[in-house]
Amino acid sequence: MNAIRHDFRSDTVTKPSAGMRAAMASAEVGDDVFGDDPTVNLLEQKMAGMLGKDAALFVSSGTMSNLLALMSYCGRGDEFIAGQNAHCYKYEAGGAAVLGSIQPQPIAHQADGTMALGNIESAIKDGSDSHFATTRVIALENTFGGRVLPVGYMQSVADIAQRHGLGLHLDGARAFNASSVLGLDIKSFVAPFDTVSICLSKGLGAPVGSVLVGRQDLIDTARRNRKMLGGGLRQSGILAAAGLYALEHNVVRLADDHRRAKRLAEGLARHEALRVTMPDSNIVWVDMGSETGEQLTPYLAHHGVGITGRYGQQRWVTHLDVGDEDVEAALALVDGFFTRT
Ligand SMILES: *Cc1c(COP(=O)(O)O)cnc(C)c1O
Repeated sequence: MNAIRHDFRSDTVTKPSAGMRAAMASAEVGDDVFGDDPTVNLLEQKMAGMLGKDAALFVSSGTMSNLLALMSYCGRGDEFIAGQNAHCYKYEAGGAAVLGSIQPQPIAHQADGTMALGNIESAIKDGSDSHFATTRVIALENTFGGRVLPVGYMQSVADIAQRHGLGLHLDGARAFNASSVLGLDIKSFVAPFDTVSICLSKGLGAPVGSVLVGRQDLIDTARRNRKMLGGGLRQSGILAAAGLYALEHNVVRLADDHRRAKRLAEGLARHEALRVTMPDSNIVWVDMGSETGEQLTPYLAHHGVGITGRYGQQRWVTHLDVGDEDVEAALALVDGFFTRT
């Protein structure tokens, strides 16, 4: 396989820009476990302010952030409700169960990615029956596989959570993508939630880190548990500086990624063999016969285009390090694949 020159595998592949590296190199630092790192403190204050919440916690990854959130709401033998394909249920190595002793209650997704409200509500156990784990929190995800779920849906789930005295967590790894698509400021977008996890290392282009933002008591618990999980960092201001730089320079430009994803989808959709889902944000899903997939994905890889895909499905992700020219180069290669003799 040749080196990847047009990398659509994920928005996690971005490399810190010269400006970001300069910000990291000149960051003021201290020991964050002592609360002494001014750059980490600034990032946490800034994120809390932007999202309109009490407090924030800088953590190593989105996976750790989601786990800490769930552990803040749940004790041993409690339960969280999440979608069957939610990252915090399906893609985090069972961490909530293994490390938090928290039981997941997964709920099927409807065709539009949401969970049916009735299914959520009927899955809630209030602790009165000793057969059941007690539900403590509902976790939503938005964007979800690149799809932007409606604000009205999030509010309806918040109403259910409130009615039952449950917490509400948002896995907002790409929440800035969602709020950009909706043209809604991030504060309003996350308003219904008690905690929100935001990835700095996806579309925002930082090399490392996520921030868990939310109610003070929940963030205090998360800070203690972060230490317990081995996630207390020292002069992490070097990393937080990249996050601050990202918030300043890389939020507005997410719209470029969304525009390029649309262009990519339209170009791919010209081919009858490809069934392309028009993207809401920066992720394009393409379905095809598995035979086509078995040839097309390696063909693209051979020509320097990185995508992820298997079983006749491809995922293309646009980000900071793919430009218009990468999109056009990839489309030309796909055209070449279908017209080759
Ligand atoms: C990437 C991602 C995470 C996890 O982030 P990591 O930093 O890779 O651990 C969590 N949720 C969603 C929706 C993600 O896309």
